[in-house]
Amino acid sequence: MEKIIEIKNMTYYYKSFTDDGESQDIYACRDINLDIYGGEFVALVGHNGSGKSTLAKLLNALLTPRIGSVTVFNMDTADKDNLFDIRKSVGMVFQNPDNQMVASIIEEDVAFGPENLGLPREEIVERVNWALNSVNMQQFAKRSPHRLSGGQKQRIAIAGALAIKPQVLVLDESTAMLDPQGRREVLDIAHKLNKEHGMTIILITHFMEEVMESDRVIVMNKGRIEMIDTPQAVFAQADKLVSIDLALPRVVQLGNMLLQAGLDVGEYCTDIDALGDKLCQLL
Ligand code: ADP
Ligand code: MG
Repeated sequence: MEKIIEIKNMTYYYKSFTDDGESQDIYACRDINLDIYGGEFVALVGHNGSGKSTLAKLLNALLTPRIGSVTVFNMDTADKDNLFDIRKSVGMVFQNPDNQMVASIIEEDVAFGPENLGLPREEIVERVNWALNSVNMQQFAKRSPHRLSGGQKQRIAIAGALAIKPQVLVLDESTAMLDPQGRREVLDIAHKLNKEHGMTIILITHFMEEVMESDRVIVMNKGRIEMIDTPQAVFAQADKLVSIDLALPRVVQLGNMLLQAGLDVGEYCTDIDALGDKLCQLL
């Protein structure tokens, strides 16, 4: 697979001021080295304040490194001449669906991005239709976003990002404010875009259940990358996860409890159906 994002020895700190007017540096990302490959589905986890959102913003030049470099499709994010092309390549969807709507009609909202790219009218219409179709919201095109559920609003926000036709989509806790059904809707869309369009997905979440279907999991702690591995390999290190305040998915917890109770269901299991099958065989 082709390397599309390269982060090298990257450190980012916020400059902030105390009440006495003294300047202080708040380190949010420390000495990060990370490569992302085209077509990957990557999950980024870590408890609050571990630096996930800061890292996300460094990926599309909303922030630029204090030390080291971030390169996106061979473009250095620190070079201002690359800004426009980088923003076109890496789409972002954030946490709060209500803060991401700019227009009062859904299709106008989704058209905002491509309009800013200065595309011709027909191309904009085509992209808006495609984007709304991709998130199964085409029937809402002419409506106002106000009465939508949280999950539907996030799907519109995703459509807005898609209309720019990015190669990479970053979802920063985009499921955090949703009910279980809304979360499932957004996750399903992310996986569909990955599988059917080969879109590279970076899913930031604190719900460990959501990372199980990803290719790789990046675990952050206090601004550093603590682990990068497959979901199975990450969940196998339960003690380490617990030590940095991350809970195991419930299915893994259940498997461990059964193991401790003396039922040989295998070392760890991330798939509820597989766990059920093993249990049935044992009983
Ligand atoms: P996460 O998304 O994992 O919760 P963040 O990237 O938002 O983590 O934050 C990482 C660290 O940077 C935290 O200590 C946070 O308080 C700090 N931080 C985030 N945004 C700012 C900001 N705009 N100014 C100062 N400090 C910030
Ligand atoms: Mg965050």
